[in-house]
Amino acid sequence: MKPATKFIHAGVEPDPTTGAIMTPIYQTSTYVQTAPGNNKGYEYARSQNPTRFALEKAMAEIENGKYGLVFSSGVAATDAVIKLLSPGDEVIAANDMYGGTYRLFTKVFEKFGIVFKYVNMQDANNIAAIISNKTKLIWTETPTNPLMNITDIAAVAAIAKQHNALLCVDNTFASPYLQNPLDLGADIVMHSATKYLGGHSDVIQGSLVMNDKALRDELYFIQKSCGAVPGPQDCFLVLRGIKTLHVRMQRHCENGERIAYFLRNHNRVAKVYWPGFEDHTNYAIAKKQMRGFGGMISFELKDDSADETRRVLSSTKVFALAESLGGVESLINHPASMTHASIPREERIKNGLTDSLIRLSVGIEDIDDLIEDLQQAIC
Ligand SMILES: *Cc1c(COP(=O)(O)O)cnc(C)c1O
Repeated sequence: MKPATKFIHAGVEPDPTTGAIMTPIYQTSTYVQTAPGNNKGYEYARSQNPTRFALEKAMAEIENGKYGLVFSSGVAATDAVIKLLSPGDEVIAANDMYGGTYRLFTKVFEKFGIVFKYVNMQDANNIAAIISNKTKLIWTETPTNPLMNITDIAAVAAIAKQHNALLCVDNTFASPYLQNPLDLGADIVMHSATKYLGGHSDVIQGSLVMNDKALRDELYFIQKSCGAVPGPQDCFLVLRGIKTLHVRMQRHCENGERIAYFLRNHNRVAKVYWPGFEDHTNYAIAKKQMRGFGGMISFELKDDSADETRRVLSSTKVFALAESLGGVESLINHPASMTHASIPREERIKNGLTDSLIRLSVGIEDIDDLIEDLQQAIC
């Protein structure tokens, strides 16, 4: 099935009782049994919910995987993956990634004896250099938030396989429309469904997709035992979001490209981070593993003073100053003080995330209005 058809039909079948074309929101905590243990496969909604199951099936289909599991947030999905590990196990993670992932690793899981090592994953050899038989998981994000660095998923997957480690890819920035990590050899693909999958800035949710049944069963056990499940209404919203993912992503890509070049040609802009530029460090890999370059762009002004950065961030009228990304509306964000404030300053600066970096989530509004808005803000 071609992507456009798949995004609209994935996971959804007419409701068996009424024929409703949209999956109903099964707003129930429990299910009636006719005799003890005699039920229709549904016992308690932390373990089973039909709206959630429809979404989990859809997630698996759109990521070209066999099994999907959804969670109450993106970080809850990440949390479930790390709970596969035991004290003493090592994780090799990207040194440039979503601040909340870094916070979860360092502030929550380190104290349980899980060891995290951070490397620059733009070069897969950096992983090969430090991987050991204690390494149980490689965690990467591509493109990275917010520096738009690219990891070669197939190359990292090969290293992971060689050492019997799992590879989990946070695919939030690309979305399943632009990139499918399982096809490139990853074991698990993770999403903050809050972003492009939901697509309308009205829900918090996370998801995991995998091919291996034993891995699915372990993660399902963690999902129901730890309990970070999303409610049925949130599942409905993400199911609905997925139906327009391809149309939205096409426009995010078109608008993103126009704005990337607009910024690059602007005489007050010093540097633009966007993987679609032919001189981006890993352009060749981005072009190979992605079907487009998306609507996420970061940039720095030539005047990188705190005052000027703050002035521009506060001057846009269409771009709203807010955390998050991937919705239909354009957002502007200051990673150092907002989305990535949980990363210590010197750690951030060392990895290239400066105090003057500005991140855009380019929405699907009219491109002329978006460019005019940035022009009047940067002027
Ligand atoms: C937002 C985000 C997360 C966390 O997801 P939540 O839904 O906010 O918990 C993880 N990874 C990336 C790349 C994100 O942008």
